[in-house]
Amino acid sequence: MSRFWSAKVHELTPYVPGEQPKVSNLIKLNTNENPYGPSPKVLEALKAEAGDTLRLYPDPNADNLKQALATYYKVTTNQVFVGNGSDEVLAHTFQGLLKQDKPLMFPDITYSFYPVYCGLYDIEYVNQPLTDSFEIDLNQYPSENGGIIFPNPNAPTGRVLPLSEIRTLLERNSDSVVVVDEAYIDFGGESAIALVNDYPNLLVIQTLSKSRSLAGLRVGFAVGNPELIDGLERVKNSFNSYPLDRFAISGAVAAIEDHVYFEQTCKAIMDSRNTLTEQLQALQFEVLPSATNFVFATHAEWEASELAAKLRERSIIVRHFKQERIQNYIRISIGTNDECQALVAALREIL
Ligand code: PMP
Repeated sequence: MSRFWSAKVHELTPYVPGEQPKVSNLIKLNTNENPYGPSPKVLEALKAEAGDTLRLYPDPNADNLKQALATYYKVTTNQVFVGNGSDEVLAHTFQGLLKQDKPLMFPDITYSFYPVYCGLYDIEYVNQPLTDSFEIDLNQYPSENGGIIFPNPNAPTGRVLPLSEIRTLLERNSDSVVVVDEAYIDFGGESAIALVNDYPNLLVIQTLSKSRSLAGLRVGFAVGNPELIDGLERVKNSFNSYPLDRFAISGAVAAIEDHVYFEQTCKAIMDSRNTLTEQLQALQFEVLPSATNFVFATHAEWEASELAAKLRERSIIVRHFKQERIQNYIRISIGTNDECQALVAALREIL
């Protein structure tokens, strides 16, 4: 490490994203991308954008996108914030909203970017353990906290909480921000966006990377009380005035407006997930109930790393984790039906 950087940089433990292989002959079920590709209307919007206007800066406020999101989610535009992927929206949230004199709370098994942001922004945090059945138990979260954040559904477990439990938490936790990271909400969960008008401390973060199949375009957003949104705008405008380029804004608007394609592809993924779950169970896997576009599964006779390696030999990539309690689970993103069937065939061969 260079002696020119500060000691702080040397101490960072950066996030390690799932592998993005350079070859295309693999069945890629490791980073929860959507196998169906974006709406054809997105591609039309991107082509229309690819012209002379590229010499001009994009709209720093991405007003068209905020309007499209506000219309779709039945909120006002001052309740919407947009950023370069939900990772960036999360980063601004950690930096701006959660820095208090009490520790931030989040589950011990969850999206592994949260502790990374805490390291970057010097935020103290306390992990709350998942239950024996890998569920988040919001009743455990003490009311003395500097904010609470959790994904719903959780990652990488895939388990979802009902809105009633989030409402109960908000009823008793009114002095700090509650952030619900809904990256996977469109695959079977109920969005807490429905609660933002009732609870001024609720911030809901979503992404277009999963259910709208735009991981490559990098668009995420947050919905919450205008005061919370204003805080995010202040952080954003102190960091990067143009986080969304012209393609991202136009493509995201087209994706949000194509309701039919969105609903069809989400349904196809949920159907494949349910079929794959049954097939894995028939192969003696224990599969957690999933409300996401992935399944989290373990096999009593196999180590996850070994299984992942054997699948890789057969050109299929899945994810597994080092954390002790989940180190024998593999996480499989839901692919097309053909991809899921290729996975099942490979597993039949291996087991
Ligand atoms: N939250 C969770 C729980 C995730 O799994 C992911 C995807 N890795 C993200 C946020 C970030 O997604 P993106 O930056 O692509 O919007």
